Amino acid sequence: MEFVETIGALRERLSGERVRALVPTMGALHAGHLSLIDAARTAGNGRATVIMSVFVNPLQFGAGEDFTRYPRDIAADRAKAASVDILFAPPTDELYPSTGAPPIRVIPELDPPRWEAAVRPGHFAGVLTVVAKLFNIVQPQVAVFGQKDIQQATYIRAMVEALDFPIQLVIAPIVRESDGLAMSSRNVYLSSDERVRALALSRALRATDAQWRAGERNVEVLEAAGRAVLDATPGVITDYFAVAEPHQLQPIAKAGTGSIAMVAARVGRTRLIDNLILGA
Ligand code: AMP
Repeated sequence: MEFVETIGALRERLSGERVRALVPTMGALHAGHLSLIDAARTAGNGRATVIMSVFVNPLQFGAGEDFTRYPRDIAADRAKAASVDILFAPPTDELYPSTGAPPIRVIPELDPPRWEAAVRPGHFAGVLTVVAKLFNIVQPQVAVFGQKDIQQATYIRAMVEALDFPIQLVIAPIVRESDGLAMSSRNVYLSSDERVRALALSRALRATDAQWRAGERNVEVLEAAGRAVLDATPGVITDYFAVAEPHQLQPIAKAGTGSIAMVAARVGRTRLIDNLILGA
């Protein structure tokens, strides 16, 4: 694995590499991130140069969010990402050279903003701007993202279509702890008590899925099943629990094949998200 910190060095290293697969991350790597490396290898038929980026993108954090305390451990990341070809970990000023907000951004205008976009204004503009930069720097044929951030994946798909990036997107399944908690770099924030309460998110999704499997299709009823689990767990504050269609994550009245149940909730000071494809 080669460790690269500048755009210039990365471009030089990549010149002549014909097939490139990019795995963007914010680091603090866990098994979920590592599963994306395998997905990148598979998508590239084993012939792609796999580039993982590690960059805690200030642009996608709102005021009062956890940018400063977000876990950073590049030494551990270098060890865990040993199976990539290149680990690209630029300092902040390599991607955003001037201080303050960059003057040009990719701003999604999918009206009205829902779910994460409603709770975190400006978040997806920050995500799309950094992902567009990474796409232009790496010029990959394949880019791999996780279903864990399904709304992010939907925005990136919309950007790829709208801006004609010639990139195949791969969305890899969610990797969970053995008790069901979706792996996340933010799980390290949880106290042992909060760690137990955090299981309410995956339990709520499974409760909705159980209703689906029993034949329920009314979204109000499906959502109520999930919310009941969250509401019954002290110390968990729900931002939203919703069932949506899988393509643009629009609200629906009747659930169909592949409908997505999505949840965001705060457990103490930690905000967690999770989702599940009904019946999958
Ligand atoms: P992050 O470092 O949290 O920005 O995540 C980087 C990439 O890893 C994103 O595409 C995420 O969706 C994906 N990811 C995060 N957690 C998981 C997980 N538990 N399973 C699979 N992919 C994940």
